[in-house]
Amino acid sequence: MFHFLRQRRRNKQLREFEMPQDAWRYLLAQPLFAGLDKDEQERLRQQVIWFLHEKSVFGADDMQLTPYQRLAIAAQACLPVLNLDVDSYADWRSIIVQPRAFRRQERFRDEYGLVHEGQRMLAGEARHDGPVLLSWPDVAGSLDCDGWNVVIHEMAHKLDMKNGDANGFPPLHRGMSEAQWTLEFKRAYLDFCEKVDHGIDIGINSYGATNPGEFFAVLSEYFFELPALLQHHYPALYPLLSQFYRQDPLQRQQSAGQLHAASGYGWH
Ligand SMILES: [Zn+2]
Repeated sequence: MFHFLRQRRRNKQLREFEMPQDAWRYLLAQPLFAGLDKDEQERLRQQVIWFLHEKSVFGADDMQLTPYQRLAIAAQACLPVLNLDVDSYADWRSIIVQPRAFRRQERFRDEYGLVHEGQRMLAGEARHDGPVLLSWPDVAGSLDCDGWNVVIHEMAHKLDMKNGDANGFPPLHRGMSEAQWTLEFKRAYLDFCEKVDHGIDIGINSYGATNPGEFFAVLSEYFFELPALLQHHYPALYPLLSQFYRQDPLQRQQSAGQLHAASGYGWH
């Protein structure tokens, strides 16, 4: 009964939502969404409408969001859950958009185990049991498939937090092996940390070496934006992320003829 009522409410939302067509077409033409077929584009449109109904997306510091800004955030947030349960984000409600990158006072532990306190500039933040914060200039700069996507990064944290802390071990689907996920991610994380420690740049953001939770979030960005790069360096992780997100961006980019551009992006 509950499901039926919810479906009816969603159908009503779909009928009544006035999609800003030019903005939507512009977004779909961005590299991040290239290769989505007509069915996927329609499913993304529906998810975006539900997302904007169910989430409160608003600007901080009197920032007034335009319809395009709201759409750009929702479309990027919905891409990772395109083939997942429609309620994947049901456990949180708000996105607060900052007019610029924001400062956070943080305590962090260095490689010698010493705890420091200092300020760091953030493009985004996913709070446990709370809102997601996003800096608008970073959201706007996330559409071009260069491996950096603050919205996908924070959404990956939110999915990871569904079973506790953001530790790189999100709840897996039935049939996925927890042991295999743990083994392969741990192996890849240690390899990545070693490369970062030795100053070896493989084209993946060294921020991923911060901890296993950040590794999962950063690799999720690469999974959607530069899947060929991810597959090249961590071939065991690509299929795991593909099973987790139930998508194959590598195949999508191949069909969209995007791989040439992606492979030219400074990796070896
Ligand atoms: Zn993060």
